[in-house]
Amino acid sequence: MYSWNCIENCGACCRFDLTERDDLSRALTNKDITLINSMTGKDGWCKYFDKSNKKCMIYESRPHFCRVTEFSKSFKAYLKNGDKFLIDCCKQHISSIYGRKSRQMKSFKSAVSKK
Ligand code: SF4
Ligand code: SF4
Repeated sequence: MYSWNCIENCGACCRFDLTERDDLSRALTNKDITLINSMTGKDGWCKYFDKSNKKCMIYESRPHFCRVTEFSKSFKAYLKNGDKFLIDCCKQHISSIYGRKSRQMKSFKSAVSKK
């Protein structure tokens, strides 16, 4: 069984496009969506994402939807498939932002351990 892990120097999920994420939009409240829109820069990246070091500038106080282990429970697919759902989501994000053969993808795959 694979277990999900976040990796350093990624942040691929810190770029939002809710129009491509029906499942995400359904799990969010209107208040969340307003907050996301206020956090999103013109280039689609979260304004709190430091691109120079790929870190969240407000990590300790980031919104609930950025806390993967908590927010994942809002998704039926997570309740059904567990970490596999999270792993697939991260792979989609990483692939679309950095590419399937990127350093981040290699790092993520090695961090996703088989137990
Ligand atoms: S895409 Fe996945 S691995 Fe990358 S920062 Fe987001 S949660 Fe972490
Ligand atoms: S608040 Fe932090 S974790 Fe959430 S999207 Fe922005 S940079 Fe990423």
